[in-house]
Amino acid sequence: MMSKNIELPASIVIRDLAQKIEKSPIEIIKKLMTNGVMATINQAVDFDTAAIVVAEYGFEAVPEVQEEVKKEETGEIPLWRRLIADEDASKLMARPPVVTILGHVDHGKTSLLDAVRQTDVAAGEAGGITQHIGAYQVEKKGRTITFLDTPGHAAFTAMRARGAQGADIVILVVAADDGVMPQTREAIAHAKAARVPIIVALNKMDKPNANPERVKKQLAELELVPDDWGGNTMVIPVSAKQKQGIDDLLEGILLVADNADIRANPEGKVIGTVIEAEVDKSKGTIATLLVQNGTLESGNIVVAGKAFGRMKAISDYKGRAVKKAGPSTPVAVMGLNDVPSAGDVFQVVGSEKEARAIVAERLEEEKSHAQAKKKVSLEDLFASVQAGETKELNLIVKADVQGSLEPIISELEKLNEGEIGIKILYAETGNIGENDVMLATASKAIIIGFNVQADVAARKLADAEGVSIRLYDIIYRMTEDIEKALKGMLEPEVVEKVIGRANVLAVFSASKLGRVAGCRVTEGELRRNAKVRLYRGTDLVFEGEMASLRHEKEDVKEIRTGFECGVGFKNFNDIQVGDYLICYVLEKNA
Ligand code: GDP
Repeated sequence: MMSKNIELPASIVIRDLAQKIEKSPIEIIKKLMTNGVMATINQAVDFDTAAIVVAEYGFEAVPEVQEEVKKEETGEIPLWRRLIADEDASKLMARPPVVTILGHVDHGKTSLLDAVRQTDVAAGEAGGITQHIGAYQVEKKGRTITFLDTPGHAAFTAMRARGAQGADIVILVVAADDGVMPQTREAIAHAKAARVPIIVALNKMDKPNANPERVKKQLAELELVPDDWGGNTMVIPVSAKQKQGIDDLLEGILLVADNADIRANPEGKVIGTVIEAEVDKSKGTIATLLVQNGTLESGNIVVAGKAFGRMKAISDYKGRAVKKAGPSTPVAVMGLNDVPSAGDVFQVVGSEKEARAIVAERLEEEKSHAQAKKKVSLEDLFASVQAGETKELNLIVKADVQGSLEPIISELEKLNEGEIGIKILYAETGNIGENDVMLATASKAIIIGFNVQADVAARKLADAEGVSIRLYDIIYRMTEDIEKALKGMLEPEVVEKVIGRANVLAVFSASKLGRVAGCRVTEGELRRNAKVRLYRGTDLVFEGEMASLRHEKEDVKEIRTGFECGVGFKNFNDIQVGDYLICYVLEKNA
C-alpha cells in the first residue's frame, strides 16, 4: 500500500500530532513509549520522532513549509515597525540590532554582559573605562550591536508595559548544568508575547556537569527547537566565565538581525525610549536615551514622558561627548527638567512651547486616567473584541500542580475554535506572583489561577495596574466563564476589593475569644463584617471571617489607619507576631 504524505513541523505537540492523524493522544503516547520516548500530551516531539510514529499509521512525514510571514501579521506590532510606518521607505537604512539578555537568576546574565563588553575592550580600547549608562555597544565584523545593560525581564516588561519596545533580539541565557527553570519559561513567554526573536546562549559550558543535550530537549519542548535539530532557534554554547563562545554569539546576533529587517530612517522623526534616568546632585537630570529613529542632536528639545528640556550635553556609553546620535545609539543626556521613567517614549519637538503643551496634555490625561483606571477584565476584553480591536484573549495560567495544568490547557484550547483566539502566554505551577502580573500588564492578559493564591505583592500590583486575576477551583467553572466572556454573556464579575491592611504587633489570649492578634492598621480600615486574610511572609495562613474586632476592650464595627485593635479569627488561633492582615469585601464589578 502506498503511504500518504503528511506535513509535519520541526517540532509538534502530541495533542496536535494526534489531531493531525485523527488518532487518540493516548494511543500516540503509548506508541512513543514502545519506542522508548516518554512524553505527555502537551509535550513536543521533534520531526524525526513524529515521523516514526506517523509511519506506523501508514503516513510518510514531509517537512512543513514555514508559515512565519503569516504569523507576523497578527498580534503585537513592534514599536520600531510602528515608528517607521510613516517614514519614506526609500530612506530606511539598516541600523544596529538592540539586544537584551533574559534568563533565570544565576544563569549568568550579568557575567555574559561583562564578557561581551570585555571582548570589545580587548579588541583595542586602551584602558577600556566604560560608563554604566544602562546600555553599551560592541563592534563585530565592522558592524555595531547595542546591548541593553539591565538584565532581567522586569526591565524588559517595564518598557513593554509603557508601549515601548527597546529590544530587537532577546538572548536567553540558560545554564547548561541547570537547564530550563521557571524564569527561563517566563522569559520565553515575555519574548514571545513581544514577538522578539530569541537566541539561546547555553552558558556555563565549562562546568563538568554541563548537559547541553538535556537543555536542548527542554527547549524543543518549549517550541524553541535548536537549529542543529532542524529547528529555527540558534543555541550557542558559551562560557561567560572563560569568555568562550562570545564571538559565536555576536555572529549569531548579526545573522538573526539580517533576517529581522531592522531598519530606521536616520533623517526621520527623532523618537526613542528612555532606558534609565536619575538625578545627579551637581548635573541635574541625567537620562539614558535609546534613539530608535532619526538622529538626536545637542540643542534639540526633547519631550520624554512628562519631562522636557533642551539637550545640553550628549555623551556616548564611553562618556565621550558627541554631537549627534543616530538610530540604535544609546546616549546619556543632560537638560531634562524632570526625571522620566524607564520605558517612557521620547521625541524631539520644534520648540519649548510645543514641549510644554505636550506635557500639560499628558498630565491632564493622567488625571482623568487615574479616575477611570481601565481594568483588563474579561468584560472589557470582550468589548474590544466586538469593536474589532482585539482578536485574541491572552491568558496567563497558574495552577497548583502540573497534573491540573494539563487538563486546564486542553480545556481552554477547546474553546479556541470560535472567532476569537485564546492565547496562553504562559502556564506554570505555583502561586501568582508579581512577575505574572507584570507580564499580564505588558501583554493585556488576564491571570487565571487554579487552586492557587495570589501573593500580597502580586495583588497590590494587580490593583495598581488594573490587571484582572480570576481564581477557580473547578475546571468547568473556569471554562464556562471564559466561554461566556467570549460570547459576551458574562455576569458582572465579583471582585475582591481590599479595604484595609494591618500588621500583627502582638498576640494575646482572651479567655472567651481564644487568641487575639494585636494589630495596627496601616492602610484603609478593618471592618468587623468584612473578610480577612492572614499572611506569614508570602504564605497565606488563614482566610475567612473575624470572630471579634475590638478597640481598647470595646467591640467596634470598624477601625481606621493608625489605630490599634484586637482581631480574633473564626476557628483559628495560630497567630504570630509579624503576620500581615488584609481585609476585603466582595463587590460586583458592574
Ligand atoms: P545572573 O543572576 O543571571 O546575572 O548571573 P551571574 O552573572 O551573576 O552569575 C551567577 C553565578 O554563576 C556567578 O557566581 C558567576 O560567576 C557564575 N557563572 C556565570 N557564568 C559562568 C560560566 O560560564 N561558567 C561558570 N562556571 N560559572 C559561571
